[in-house]
Amino acid sequence: MYLGSHVSFDSKEQLLKSVKECISYGANTFMFYTGAPQNTMRSAINDELTYKAYELMKENNINLEKVICHAPYIVNLANDLDPSKYDFSINFLKNEVSRLETLGIKYLVLHPGSSVGIEKYHALDNIINGLNNILYQNCNVVILLETMSGKGTELGTNLEEIKYIIDNIKEKNNIGVCLDTCHLNDSGIDISKFDDYLDLFDKEIGIDKIKCIHINDSKNNIGDHKDRHENFGFGTIGFDNLINIIYNPRLNNIPKILETPYVGENKEYPPYKFEIEMIKNKEFNSNLINDIINYYK
Ligand code: FE
Ligand code: FE
Ligand code: ZN
Repeated sequence: MYLGSHVSFDSKEQLLKSVKECISYGANTFMFYTGAPQNTMRSAINDELTYKAYELMKENNINLEKVICHAPYIVNLANDLDPSKYDFSINFLKNEVSRLETLGIKYLVLHPGSSVGIEKYHALDNIINGLNNILYQNCNVVILLETMSGKGTELGTNLEEIKYIIDNIKEKNNIGVCLDTCHLNDSGIDISKFDDYLDLFDKEIGIDKIKCIHINDSKNNIGDHKDRHENFGFGTIGFDNLINIIYNPRLNNIPKILETPYVGENKEYPPYKFEIEMIKNKEFNSNLINDIINYYK
């Protein structure tokens, strides 16, 4: 099983910092942003730090091929009303792909985009055009379209939209999907019937396209189109439904990544070490939040 969480990556230690944080949570994989999630400022990759990170990964049985990178939220391939912004998103992602090739990282999770004021199929075609511009033959990176909750004008909120994008990508080996359980719930999928969703996904797109799963509980009800993550087992999806996904044999080799919220008065404590422990024990700990606060404070 590949289980981990979102971790940080900074300009000082880069991937080495991410690996250290992953190990501190007892995880065997992780997801990082190459800089701040909310901006596009990025520094050059330092190979020496990358080699140190590889060494530490080897010692701790962390498989480089299962490590995930997430593109910043602000890149939007869907809207081209301002052509300079659209071009900026394409160029940023071209550079991001090249940074990942330097780092040896295979998977890049991307929010498909928001249409904001343009017609849906025009926006989907912008995404397709952008991706076909970014991906090239023999590219080592696979872009994973994340399933979205449908907040605002988000696209990629149902299988029809995801399928339409994938069907029109030229480099079929370089496109995949990242499921997010909170987003699926908020988009209208009943997570307690996850095998039905997987059957449909397999029929429409092919289950082999799923390369990553974000395991989050949700603060909102099915179909609310909200996107507010909750700690594992503390939301409307619940512990048993999330555990069933993590241990579903159809999803065996797919990395499962926690993006659950930090806890404490100022949201200063990461929950991941304790959530991972709870997942491995398969037993709900109703005192989890207090345990985390007591451990870190
Ligand atoms: Fe995301
Ligand atoms: Fe996510
Ligand atoms: Zn989210």
